[in-house]
Amino acid sequence: MKLNIFETAPDGFLDLLPNELFKVLPGPSLIRFKGKEEPPLFLATLLHGNEPTGLQAIQKLIKKYRAEDSTLPRCLDVFVGNVAAAKANERRFSHQPDYNRIWNGGSFPENNLAREVISIIKNSRVFASIDIHNTSGRNPHYACVNRLDAPFVNLARLFSQTLVYFTRPKEVLSNAMSEFCPSITIESGLPGDPYGVQHVFEFLEKCLNLKEIPPDLDDKEGLYAYHTIARIHVPENSRIGFDANSKDKDFCFIDNLDQQNFAELPDNTLIGWRYNPKLKLSVIDEKDQEVESEFIEYHDKEIRLKRPVVPSMFSTQEKIVHQDCLGYLMERFSLPANADS
Ligand SMILES: [Zn+2]
Repeated sequence: MKLNIFETAPDGFLDLLPNELFKVLPGPSLIRFKGKEEPPLFLATLLHGNEPTGLQAIQKLIKKYRAEDSTLPRCLDVFVGNVAAAKANERRFSHQPDYNRIWNGGSFPENNLAREVISIIKNSRVFASIDIHNTSGRNPHYACVNRLDAPFVNLARLFSQTLVYFTRPKEVLSNAMSEFCPSITIESGLPGDPYGVQHVFEFLEKCLNLKEIPPDLDDKEGLYAYHTIARIHVPENSRIGFDANSKDKDFCFIDNLDQQNFAELPDNTLIGWRYNPKLKLSVIDEKDQEVESEFIEYHDKEIRLKRPVVPSMFSTQEKIVHQDCLGYLMERFSLPANADS
């Protein structure tokens, strides 16, 4: 698997839909745009092929400067990830690894590709790294960091006052980039929402115009910070549904599950029903330990939370739940005044 490198956008790139990109990009590609300032800002998009908002916001941004006949305020390196999956509007194909889980070594061809991207970006002495995603369930727009250093938090806050700190899975791009620059992941709501494109566009333009990222965290007013404590998985090949009537399934979850994202759920909250008592949900904490018994209780068929949590990324799309997880469990926390990892 080869990394394609373009010294400027190939013809047509700025107008193609995600499922048409394959016409000009033979596969995963790094596209380099010249700007007034060095070092470059690094952006990643379409690591998940069904998450188009990042591409659309980047296209809009570049087109704006071209229409004004002006140079970008800062150089920009754009990594476009899973072009093949984007053609089919899939997160990934089953024969592929998840492109946001390839950034911490491994023996897939995609792991070599990731190493090559990391090496190029590191050598560019990159200004900052922003990986742009959509969520498959309803969530507010939020930013994720894998370190709590002030520049990371300050960069995140330019996008949203809702901040999620997590350390697992550690194979994500933002974690790899955090070794050498302020690095965040942004979650820009559901795919296809024009507001998401506009919000990401405005955020990226702000970032392109930054001279520096403020090194201190002076004011925490309005900031909602959460840290991930665990994620919920369903057993492989289990049958799941999102409708209380689907009793032929192994598990059924409440049908508005994704509307609970970022809500403070008290203990004993009902999240679904288990119709196959031989199976159990799996809850994995940030140390990769099974902690299901700390979080989940079964009352007859009901599945209830054993302790208060704030969920995020709860999804009601069966395929995504199997490919990734049902969702994450978080806790609110306060950042120290000058947050440091
Ligand atoms: Zn994603």
